Amino acid sequence: MDRRLFLKTGAAGLAGLALAKPETQAKTQTSHTPLDTQGYVREPARRIPVVDSADVVVIGGGPAGFAAAVAAAREGSDVLLLERLYFLGGLFTGCGVTPIINMFHPSENGKSRQAVFGICDELCQRLNEAGMISWEGIRPKVDPEATKYFMEDFCAGAGVRILYGVQAAQVTQSGGAIDSVIVEGKSGRVAIRCRFVIDASGDGDVLEWTGEDFTICQNDIGAMWRIGNADNSGKGSPTPVKGVRTMHTAGEKNQDGLDMYNLTRIQLKLRKKMWEDVAQWRTLEGNEDLYLVDTPALVGVRTTRVLDSVANVTTEGAATGKVYPDVIGITGGESNLKYNGGKILKNKRLMWQIPYSSLTPRHVPNLLVAGRCFGFEKELTYDAREIGTCLVTGQAAGVAASLAVARRQSNRGIDISELQSRLRAQHVKLEA
Ligand SMILES: Cc1cc2nc3c(=O)[nH]c(=O)nc-3n(C[C@H](O)[C@H](O)[C@H](O)COP(=O)(O)OP(=O)(O)OC[C@H]3O[C@@H](n4cnc5c(N)ncnc54)[C@H](O)[C@@H]3O)c2cc1C
Repeated sequence: MDRRLFLKTGAAGLAGLALAKPETQAKTQTSHTPLDTQGYVREPARRIPVVDSADVVVIGGGPAGFAAAVAAAREGSDVLLLERLYFLGGLFTGCGVTPIINMFHPSENGKSRQAVFGICDELCQRLNEAGMISWEGIRPKVDPEATKYFMEDFCAGAGVRILYGVQAAQVTQSGGAIDSVIVEGKSGRVAIRCRFVIDASGDGDVLEWTGEDFTICQNDIGAMWRIGNADNSGKGSPTPVKGVRTMHTAGEKNQDGLDMYNLTRIQLKLRKKMWEDVAQWRTLEGNEDLYLVDTPALVGVRTTRVLDSVANVTTEGAATGKVYPDVIGITGGESNLKYNGGKILKNKRLMWQIPYSSLTPRHVPNLLVAGRCFGFEKELTYDAREIGTCLVTGQAAGVAASLAVARRQSNRGIDISELQSRLRAQHVKLEA
């Protein structure tokens, strides 16, 4: 049976799967958990041990979750950062995505201006001291291993507690507010009590569990990866490490990044392609010693769920450099932007502001969303999910969450001018 059809048809699909089970299994298995009338398996209710608690639980340790956790901890909150993998950085370090886009803003005279400061700038300075960032061009390019290391060091310095190897799987709510996050890991299925949650999962997982408003924004799925002994190969772009260059494989267009079968299929296909490409390049004269440094730990998903926030950033807002009363940061705009039936070329664009309301969901009072799933209009997909921008939204969500916890307020109840002054104190730039 076609797998997509199976996923969509529910009961019929499950019946189809049962029929299709291997012959050997049918012989040894005498009884099955009965399916309910919709063809689902009922999981028995069970008690879940509470293993931890925190003021602020951040789900996902990508650029947004990292910045959120560090910012909240620096404001004095007890922060637990949950990450399903065993390193920080998300796609930034785990999918070879090492050029930081939107930290700098292009301009007509060919010069660029720095747009993003705060934790993004601090991280780059640390990488700079270690010789692990290259400033060539408008996009700083980092070494992913050094970045993982410094991200953990920033967390340790701020007092963030990291919990690796845990997939957040559900939340419990009381009166609409999230009061615990349920995670699955090698210790089993356990609960973590919390006062505030930041969804930095990239895929807006919490939006699904809480029934929040979101839009699915399908996008291309591809990969970035690295090759070595490649300085004279004419392939890819340079990195801070001699001989190592970054490659980009475009992958497939307009893909469902929430379908685990699709993700597996694409990852298998892309890895095969990387090995085949390297094998072919090694046959070229001068490239005999070229080698594959690494293939990505994460599938290169660009966007999936995007929050329908209290007020999404609009294309008009980004195109006109709109000034928002609840601005929480600015970002560069490195891409050509379709607007008003035409196109604004990147070197004619303005830096654009991000309002707090675009991180704020409409219903859950103790949740904020940061990173590639915060609230923006579809035309902004390219800009809004870049690493520079993700770091801005993360830092702001962290400071806001900490403020809400300290003042016992909801996400919509916090004092915006206090949020802005705290962000300025954390070296965030709010005006272009
Ligand atoms: C192929 C490709 C090329 C790109 N090129 C560039 C580029 O050159 N420059 C640029 O600036 N941007 C680029 N981007 C975009 C950029 O990498 C991402 O948009 C950015 O990393 C998003 O950051 P994030 O923190 O929102 O999410 P992510 O980086 O996706 O991080 C999310 C983290 O959350 C974890 N997680 C997810 N769900 C759970 C859960 N339920 N429980 C626990 N942990 C969870 C994940 O493991 C991951 O670590 C590219 C993206 C792709 C796919």
